Amino acid sequence: MAGDSFDLVVIGAGPGGYVCAIRAAQLGMKVACVEKRATLGGTCLNVGCIPSKALLQASEKFHEAGHGLAAFGVKVGKVELDLAAMMAHKDKVVDANVKGVEFLFRKNKVEWVKGAARIAGPGKVAVGERVLEARAIVIATGSEVSPLRGIDIDEKKIVSSTGALELGAVPKSMAVIGGGVIGLEMASVWQRLGAKVAVVEFLDRILPGMDGEVSKQTQRILARQGIEFRLSTKVTGADKGGAGVALTLEPAAGGDKSELKVDVVLVAVGRRPHVEGLCLEEAGVALDDKGRIATDAHFQTSAKGIYAIGDAIAGPMLAHKAEDEGVAVAEILAGQKPHVNYDAIPGVVYTWPEVAAVGATEEQLKQAGTEYRVGKFPFTANGRARAMNMTDGFVKILADKATDRVLGVHIVGPNAGDLIAELALAMEFGASAEDIARTCHAHPTLNETVKEAALAVDGRPIHI
Ligand code: FAD
Ligand code: NAD
Repeated sequence: MAGDSFDLVVIGAGPGGYVCAIRAAQLGMKVACVEKRATLGGTCLNVGCIPSKALLQASEKFHEAGHGLAAFGVKVGKVELDLAAMMAHKDKVVDANVKGVEFLFRKNKVEWVKGAARIAGPGKVAVGERVLEARAIVIATGSEVSPLRGIDIDEKKIVSSTGALELGAVPKSMAVIGGGVIGLEMASVWQRLGAKVAVVEFLDRILPGMDGEVSKQTQRILARQGIEFRLSTKVTGADKGGAGVALTLEPAAGGDKSELKVDVVLVAVGRRPHVEGLCLEEAGVALDDKGRIATDAHFQTSAKGIYAIGDAIAGPMLAHKAEDEGVAVAEILAGQKPHVNYDAIPGVVYTWPEVAAVGATEEQLKQAGTEYRVGKFPFTANGRARAMNMTDGFVKILADKATDRVLGVHIVGPNAGDLIAELALAMEFGASAEDIARTCHAHPTLNETVKEAALAVDGRPIHI
């Protein structure tokens, strides 16, 4: 094969693209991965999952030192914030992760082609002057921040998630537009560090798409921590004239306007597929009605030999979903028959306590007319949670009424993001609530709430 001929050219080195490239190389393919950012790892490693979790972890420690340790009999002196050091921690974590992908590319002999790619014809990807020949092309170009009409993001006073990960000082006040995942995670970071944060959400609830009970409980807990919520409210303007920003707020249903003055505004109203500059139309790659690349069940686009995965296509915009699709498409190209089970993809919101879910919500089951039973167990009744002083929240298991098969699990509580793994595995194996209830769970662990919730599905929890 000539130097510029590849079995596979992947466009984009986020979790979808880099994992796809590595898996294809493992399967013996000659692979190039084109990335226009200066570092590998995509949104997730550079400006998404990883830096946000580094700041969530660090800000949680700061908050705990100031507010949580005394209850354990640990006296600390004056707790002071060194924001520069906290940011340095975040940057170090990002650096280690993106360099890790570089190492993995070298190890697996994936060629990293630097620059912006466009599709230049069947089996051809152009990067600057260079044209790569490819037997197959995978588009993994991810997503970008959705703008909000009338609100000009300058990444200083009005920031996207990227700017919110890099503020040079703790603002006195902050408005977060959008009560979704990014909004709540970044609101948590800056609220813990001392900002007075208000979340403005268009709908009448936060975390739309998650189980209603979970979203209500999460709002209650975050409000108790000091975050203010303005639901059913839309932002219709932003004036950057003075020292801060004056937002114009309007009830979503219409009515009298009001003003909210803050130092910094975060716009977190969603993300949209990033497909600009790829020359998709010329290549015959169709988009769906939401501007995502349309694919069939095997990730094939409307153009033969061109596949797409991750945030650029339909489905939840999650790193692990992109990764699983990356593996699947590489295996399909190698003649295997992989499958991504979209019914068992966990989602986690890394607030404190965390929020985690897998499978159907109660609202979805009702809408589908599925008969189900609910088992719930609160962390207040769990010994380990009491020992940790972290008793907020519950585990809620939804199981099919006739077969007892687990259809969905929703958790608000300490380490919910880790607890959900057991349930994703259970769902992958088609487990019943009874299977979980009869599995021995170590004592004393937070996981015992999962067992108790499973017992509660059948009305026989022991500890409540
Ligand atoms: P991306 O990671 O967006 O990568 C696409 C890459 O393609 C980019 O590097 C881009 O530069 C490159 N690219 C685009 N066009 C071209 C081109 N023409 N030529 C060359 N390169 C190109 N998900 C989770 O699961 N857990 C989390 O905790 C989480 N936290 C998040 C926090 C924030 C603040 C944000 C913004 C997102 C978060 N996400 C999280 C979502 C997660 O980052 C995405 O779902 C994931 O990155 C999608 O992976 P991807 O490979 O599809 O695309
Ligand atoms: P989102 O879709 O989760 O939330 C956006 C919120 O903004 C919604 O609640 C929506 O109703 C609201 N909204 C929309 N327009 C509005 C308006 N004009 N005024 C007020 N509110 C408005 O989107 P996001 O929080 O921006 O996150 C983007 C993507 O990134 C998500 O799909 C998410 O999956 C991913 N992400 C995941 C994680 C994680 O897994 N922990 C973390 C961050 C981001």
